[in-house]
Amino acid sequence: MEARDRERFSRQIRFSGLGEEGQERILRARAVIAGCGALGSFQAGALARAGVRRLRLIDRDYIELSNLQRQWLYEESDAEQGLPKAVAAARRLRAIDSAVEAEPFVTDLTAANAGDLLGEADLLLDGTDNFETRYLINDFAVSRGIPWIYGAAVESYGLVMPVLPGQTACLRCVYPDPPAGSQPTCETAGVLNCITSLVASFQVAEALKILSGHPEQVSRRITTVDLWSGVTRQINQPAPRADCPCCGRREFVYLDGARRAPISLCGRNAVQIHERQRPLDLAELRRTLEPLGEVRANEFALRFFLPPYEMTIFPDGRAIVKGTQDAGLARSLYAKYVGA
Ligand SMILES: [Zn+2]
Repeated sequence: MEARDRERFSRQIRFSGLGEEGQERILRARAVIAGCGALGSFQAGALARAGVRRLRLIDRDYIELSNLQRQWLYEESDAEQGLPKAVAAARRLRAIDSAVEAEPFVTDLTAANAGDLLGEADLLLDGTDNFETRYLINDFAVSRGIPWIYGAAVESYGLVMPVLPGQTACLRCVYPDPPAGSQPTCETAGVLNCITSLVASFQVAEALKILSGHPEQVSRRITTVDLWSGVTRQINQPAPRADCPCCGRREFVYLDGARRAPISLCGRNAVQIHERQRPLDLAELRRTLEPLGEVRANEFALRFFLPPYEMTIFPDGRAIVKGTQDAGLARSLYAKYVGA
């Protein structure tokens, strides 16, 4: 280890659980953070500060003013510029530690790209807000034997569960199928920033155990916390189930693409169009759309205001249509203004 790093990480090296050898391992580790919202942006900042120098950041969304209350890495200027979260997060990580190799991917994590995006990771961290993506991560992690850490937070309540394939239960051992019906989301029910940072801190602690070479220290429990009522519970994780469709029978239906993520953005008055994968020239599109309404564009995304709707269009052809939950209407707006 270089002298500068020994100084930078001296308080962690002094911590008996890690020591110099643990820190050396952390410096060489590679982690992927799926989702750079409240949980993911906190994880990214904490892991970069702890010395994880190879961090891949995956997020499909851009920063909005309402994110700043709990998404620790972002600032007003990011929202004003409409920067993608992964891009803004990567910039801030490099500012925290110039040796961090932060790789932003502004995209949806799907069955088609999971192998490329997640494949080289020592660890996957869940910063997503939906079960479909978590089941995809679970399928991928179990199929490749990569540990991952599930976390969720809404209102004042949060939950953490580490998954060590082959050793602990997986997500589908505990929840064989996504919950039926609509679930409360941060958009519909609100969320306190302190529960998101607490859940993310639990995830970061488990991550540091794994990345420093101490998987035996990983909690074999499901931890739930409600910071408003003050109630904390831990239950022992069940053993891996022989009849679990994922880790027991090794049927990876989410990874095979046999089950697909929904098009509506859960809990938001918005629809994502992501079936039209094709590159778009945003500069050309800007010239086309400017006579028709207000357009704001940067190199990462173009926003087109068409009250009461707003379309954010990405260079890979993906778009988020705000102001409706009607997928048909969103598709027709896309066809009309971006092209079929
Ligand atoms: Zn399982």
